[in-house]
Amino acid sequence: MPVRAVFFDMDDTLVDYTASAHVGLHETALEVHALVPEIPAGAFLRAYENLPRAMTHDRATHGSQHQIADALAACGIDKPRTARAMYDHYLKSRLEVITLMPGAIEALHFLRQHCTVGLLSNGLVRTRQTTMSRLGLQGLLDPVLISEQEMLEKPDPRFFQRALTRAGTGPDDTVLVGDSLSADIAGAHGAGWRSVWLNPSGANRPPAYPVPDWQIRSLHGLPSILFPPE
Ligand SMILES: [Mg+2]
Repeated sequence: MPVRAVFFDMDDTLVDYTASAHVGLHETALEVHALVPEIPAGAFLRAYENLPRAMTHDRATHGSQHQIADALAACGIDKPRTARAMYDHYLKSRLEVITLMPGAIEALHFLRQHCTVGLLSNGLVRTRQTTMSRLGLQGLLDPVLISEQEMLEKPDPRFFQRALTRAGTGPDDTVLVGDSLSADIAGAHGAGWRSVWLNPSGANRPPAYPVPDWQIRSLHGLPSILFPPE
């Protein structure tokens, strides 16, 4: 079945989320120290690293508002207004340094000549929109589905179904590209789509997850697997 639509995950698929999150956290630690000189930047970072964190096999969730607040509380700061200000500082710092993953723009331009190209992203509308406008992605992705707005998130098959409705395609001719085995690959297979696992480090796939249809180390490899040259 030819591919008629490709949906992309955003974080660590189209954009280098992990690198930007680390910069954001370090900038926030410096800001905490500036605000409360008795708290060294390293103390905030250690408090953050020591937080109990819901982790899946392949994905750590960084930098949610409550994580920043909890790290501050562990340093003895439990003012909600400060926590909000530090979270805003974190987001601003992170979004200032966000960059595209290698091959992203080339892949998007190529795919748009052949099929519908959309975004299927778990996250906040404001961070997604800021990221897209900073990196010039806005005109390149349509439809755009963001979990906060749709009140559904990957791997829920209803989120995938909604993407099909918006693209006007079916599960057989739609592909998801993502880095997360639990949200992207398991979600795509649960909805009957095909999947491409972006696996830059060449990590092993734990057997609990479905086998992706394709696996690539970078987005440079994407065009030729979805639309092989004749
Ligand atoms: Mg991701």
